[in-house]
Amino acid sequence: MTHHPLLVHTRAQLADALARLSSTKALVMTMGALHAGHLELVREARRLADHVIVTIFVNPTQFAPGEDYDAYPRTLDADMDALESVGADLVWAPAPQDVYPTPATVSIDPGPIARVLEGKTRPTHFSGVALVCSKVANLVRPDVALYGQKDAQQLAVLRTVFAQLDIPVRIHAVPIVRARDGVALSSRNQYLSDDERVRARALSRALLRGVAAAEAGADAARIVEACRAVIDEEGGIELDYIAVVDAGSFEILAGTDGVPVDGGGGAPTLLPDGSRDGRILIAARVGTTRLIDNMEAPLGAVSPTTGAGVASRVASQHTGEDA
Ligand code: AMP
Repeated sequence: MTHHPLLVHTRAQLADALARLSSTKALVMTMGALHAGHLELVREARRLADHVIVTIFVNPTQFAPGEDYDAYPRTLDADMDALESVGADLVWAPAPQDVYPTPATVSIDPGPIARVLEGKTRPTHFSGVALVCSKVANLVRPDVALYGQKDAQQLAVLRTVFAQLDIPVRIHAVPIVRARDGVALSSRNQYLSDDERVRARALSRALLRGVAAAEAGADAARIVEACRAVIDEEGGIELDYIAVVDAGSFEILAGTDGVPVDGGGGAPTLLPDGSRDGRILIAARVGTTRLIDNMEAPLGAVSPTTGAGVASRVASQHTGEDA
């Protein structure tokens, strides 16, 4: 059974609404323009806590001048309908002055992990993400906060920040939700023209090729090469990076940027047999739209798994949505 979520805007309204919730709370933070990926986070949140709180806020401090802060889609009415269908209880959609009543003079530097990959291209991005996520965690005080693997580096940054700032919130990761054509759902996909959308499929195809190479025993550098070949074959894609990282520490094991760098995140996933859980990450511009995607890949262990195994892994993430 679903019910209409309560929509609040100011801090006082939020505090009032929270005071009425007595049992466990799960938090899902979004920038709105909700799609099936966001809704999966809300569904998972329902399973983890008695009350689900969703925030819809295009956070200015995580956008650099010249990025798409102004153009970012804002679709509150449609978002509320979507949230009703999955059963959120409370939606906080603040204005910038509700989140930042005074200009933010305090900043958070998440450390080395925020300076590589996304952080290299967007040097102030993770500081803004860390700031807003810490503030909202403090204002909502949830038991658990859910974030998507779609933004794998953001997840690693937030694990680092929450741990080191002793923010008492459990972080729960949710797998990537994809369209039928393999493209990871993203609010920014709506910027793509029809032609660009077709080209964008090469990102997930490249990752699949990389996963297949990993499963056949390729090392990190070879995995990157395998992915890169797909992007080159497609053409018309401006690659930002392809990298293979340790899924736990975010240590960069190979990448198109060359030099391996210490990600500075959590503990590495090195297993006794020398294998580890890796993640292949890709970022590229298709037309003017910047897209990111990633997939898990086993490193250092030759498994008998064939391409069929890889395909079924991705199929399990499909939403049934048309591309
Ligand atoms: P955003 O609105 O883009 O800031 O995303 C809000 C949350 O939804 C973040 O934790 C994202 O990682 C997550 N998310 C966005 N797209 C997807 C997707 N395709 N699958 C799973 N989670 C997603």
